[in-house]
Amino acid sequence: MSKIRTALVIGGGIAGPVTATALLKAGIQARVYEAYPGPTHGIGSGLALAPNGLAALEIIGVADAVRAIGSPITTMALSVGGRTIPTPQPAGLPPLQLVDRNDLHRVLHDHAVAAGVPFEYRKRLVGVDEDASGVTARFADGSSATADVLIGADGIRSTVRGLIDPANPGPEYTGLLGLGGIVPNTIGAPPGEMAFCFGRRAYYLYGALDRDRIMWGANLPHREYLSLVEARAFPAEHWLDRLRNTYADDHPGAEFARLTTAENLEVQGALHIMPPVPHWSRGRMVLVGDAVHAPSNSSGQGASLAIESAIQLARCLRDLDHRAAFAAYEQLRRGRVEGVAARARRLNHSKTPGANARRMIGLLMPLMIKGMDPERSMGAEQRYRIDWDAPVRPATEAAAA
Ligand SMILES: Cc1cc2nc3c(=O)[nH]c(=O)nc-3n(C[C@H](O)[C@H](O)[C@H](O)COP(=O)(O)OP(=O)(O)OC[C@H]3O[C@@H](n4cnc5c(N)ncnc54)[C@H](O)[C@@H]3O)c2cc1C
Repeated sequence: MSKIRTALVIGGGIAGPVTATALLKAGIQARVYEAYPGPTHGIGSGLALAPNGLAALEIIGVADAVRAIGSPITTMALSVGGRTIPTPQPAGLPPLQLVDRNDLHRVLHDHAVAAGVPFEYRKRLVGVDEDASGVTARFADGSSATADVLIGADGIRSTVRGLIDPANPGPEYTGLLGLGGIVPNTIGAPPGEMAFCFGRRAYYLYGALDRDRIMWGANLPHREYLSLVEARAFPAEHWLDRLRNTYADDHPGAEFARLTTAENLEVQGALHIMPPVPHWSRGRMVLVGDAVHAPSNSSGQGASLAIESAIQLARCLRDLDHRAAFAAYEQLRRGRVEGVAARARRLNHSKTPGANARRMIGLLMPLMIKGMDPERSMGAEQRYRIDWDAPVRPATEAAAA
């Protein structure tokens, strides 16, 4: 039985509210501290939640509320040179759910609040002090808070990661910028279908939310790194021109670029991937979500893995004291999240093929799809389930068993 009673959760994105709600379920009082002024902060656009992520949300009782804001994806397809071929999916699994990121943030936040999790906004963590009895977070506004443990759910640019180990690596730039939006469904795309398209100059994906609206995401090759703030500092017209030029020769990419306007454009900035992080925890601090394992948008698993880790971390803190809990948590999670990131890294390379490679992809696509083993590539990722009630054993014991 753990002696952990209180936790500070830094970051109120996706992993933060889920960790805090799961901690509460585990009998640990958690409070969330978020740098932004409110629960959603306009980082919209589409996100596909995989069956494993939804199953983990089931444990804290919010899966139905997430399904209610989602559009189920029943078919997936690859598209090269205007030719679209459905890809096989692992058998017998519930569909992925396409959700707007803002809606997901809101639902997870509201559920956490209803469960009894307090949130504090405009609280940017800048430092920590730790002693034998607890850890104190210091915020930019001069305030502080103390608890038994501190959990860094503060995303890809995590401050907590640097406090745990200043030498911990930062995220790598994939060489791609994320842009997109929700546009009218003028091409009659059926809801439930998601297409991954190798355009002439750049990769993009889309899925119909319903008969009227399509959510599309562009992965624009861009040598210069631009953070979210830097990318948003450019006028919308700059990005609209880039989208229209880049996708001019693609169907239906050109249509999406044409329908994207200053009003519906979403600019996400650089797309990242986290290399393996050597130190997941130190003392009373630990990392969860993108702060420690962002497998890049190519995996379609970032949010789902963040949710799984949040639940597993809460289980470990329920059953073990912090040092043993953090070791057990890392042992439960590291292999899985690094495996997903390795698959995404390979996909990232295929998103920017040269002209010859693209021609080859076009020619070989039917054979590639025929030879695909969806169970091998995605089955294990999507079938992962957490047994909340099972007691967590210390890491060395579990490894020896
Ligand atoms: C274009 C794009 C498409 C994606 N598509 C998918 C997809 O299809 N499927 C999928 O599963 N995932 C997808 N992802 C990944 C997914 O969005 C992330 O994995 C997920 O948001 C991670 O959640 P998180 O809570 O760890 O981090 P975040 O959601 O980034 O939350 C971190 C929070 O911490 C706060 N914060 C940061 N620093 C501090 C500080 N010092 N003090 C206090 N608060 C702080 C931030 O303001 C933020 O609210 C996509 C990502 C991108 C960029």
